[in-house]
Amino acid sequence: PLPTIYVITPTYTRLVQKAELTRLSHTFLLVPQLHWIVVEDSPHKTSLVSDFLSHSGLAFTHLHVATPRERKLQEGDPNWLKPRGVEQRNEGLRWLRETNRNRAEDAVVYFADDDNTYSLQLFEEMRWTQRVSVWPVGLVGGMRYERPVVEQGRVVRFHTGWRPSRPFPLDMAGFAVSLRLVLVNPEARFDGDAPMGFLESSFLQSLVTMEELEPKADMCTKVLVWHTRTEKPKMKREEAMLKQGLGSDPAIEV
Ligand code: UDP
Ligand code: MN
Repeated sequence: PLPTIYVITPTYTRLVQKAELTRLSHTFLLVPQLHWIVVEDSPHKTSLVSDFLSHSGLAFTHLHVATPRERKLQEGDPNWLKPRGVEQRNEGLRWLRETNRNRAEDAVVYFADDDNTYSLQLFEEMRWTQRVSVWPVGLVGGMRYERPVVEQGRVVRFHTGWRPSRPFPLDMAGFAVSLRLVLVNPEARFDGDAPMGFLESSFLQSLVTMEELEPKADMCTKVLVWHTRTEKPKMKREEAMLKQGLGSDPAIEV
């Protein structure tokens, strides 16, 4: 049987959320044997996400955990100030460990933010991961792409514009981990207190060494995932209309 791909996606309520989840789900529907673990950054599961998932046609698990207030980015904060989606990814890992307590199926775990863009080929590259597989990520870190550099089939360094001395200067979208490795390292998790840029390293450091990384996507020469970001829509007219009593119907879900 094909190894399962468990995709862990942190997500939070905002105007573009349903659009992001729709786009993502349409990619995942084209991937065989994929299980989507959606973790809401919220004190409760929202009906928007619950209803969305139940009609998605995907195999899914719906979880939630709220980011503590002091860890949350505030309106106007620069986005590099605090890491996002940390507690949610850890909650996904917790669920995987709990669910797989008595068996280690052949599977791989991937962390997919809700705003990135994923090619279908990426999933076939990661499916047969032994320990940790890696590949380039496009449009990230102020660069056209970042990538592991491969020589004689091994990762020897990283092409990145910033702090290449980090243990694993990889974007969240640039690696996948075998479920077995997650299960045999029950302490491995993302450290929200790690210095800026060290979130991925905080997790990967307890799992592998650079020499053990499995380069995918043609020895890390192909970009199959893009760190796209969605513009925040401006609600200028909405506010003006609301003042005239002509606001959009709140019963219509967007
Ligand atoms: N996210 C979240 N809570 C937040 C902000 C972001 O759960 O308060 C999620 C978001 O939906 C995404 C991931 O965390 O799946 C990374 O966030 P974002 O895409 O904003 O980060 P960036 O691309 O700027 O690194
Ligand atoms: Mn993003």
